[in-house]
Amino acid sequence: MKESLYTIPVNEGFEEGGECPFCNIKHKLEREAVDYMLGASYMEDDIRMETNKTGFCSKHYAEMYGKQNRLGVALMSDTHLQKVIDDLKELAPALKGEKKGIFSKKATSNPVTPYLNTLTNSCYICNKINNNFDRYFDTFFYMWKKDSDMEEKVKNSKGFCFEHFATLIEMAQKNLSGQKYDDFIDIVVPLEIENLVRLEGELAFFINKFDHRYKDEPWGTAKDALIRAMLKLGSVEVEDK
Ligand SMILES: [Zn+2]
Ligand SMILES: [Zn+2]
Repeated sequence: MKESLYTIPVNEGFEEGGECPFCNIKHKLEREAVDYMLGASYMEDDIRMETNKTGFCSKHYAEMYGKQNRLGVALMSDTHLQKVIDDLKELAPALKGEKKGIFSKKATSNPVTPYLNTLTNSCYICNKINNNFDRYFDTFFYMWKKDSDMEEKVKNSKGFCFEHFATLIEMAQKNLSGQKYDDFIDIVVPLEIENLVRLEGELAFFINKFDHRYKDEPWGTAKDALIRAMLKLGSVEVEDK
């Protein structure tokens, strides 16, 4: 099929191997987004207006700080902070607004907690990626239907992380019907379970290596089992240090 904006990353996600092809796609998008933020994009007014509103999640603050553009992170944090100060000044008086009676201590309104909760759960980079991440699943199913290689790629994969396996099943229900849906389930569910069993075995061996009786046993594939298990369970990319 014709390679496009979305089919290339899907193919690359599967070619990269590892515990989840969709995590491969997502982590690449995240790395690109962090680099993009710290390019000159933070000097563009429309982007800064957005980052002033949303800020970033803890993961992406940490990743941006890890890059060598402290000035960029400082500028974005500074104007974000200014916006939050203005918002808080506007919202805070309502905390002590009306009282029901002289003896009533019950606060009548609290716009501050919902505001801060929304703020701490919002992230410009996460939004940018999540807003069209479903497109990769749609593309995956388009390829599944049109591209005969896709089935082979799935069968050769090591299954999916929990988060993306959940999305995959949900998206399968939207994109496939009847026999095609059943066929898909008959492939991905045993594949996923088989790979969870395989990974659990590797992790059990990794644990055994802490026991002195196993110290001379060769590692085999278990050396990075914990890193791969964390990706499978929590979709998290951990650096091997
Ligand atoms: Zn994943
Ligand atoms: Zn984020």
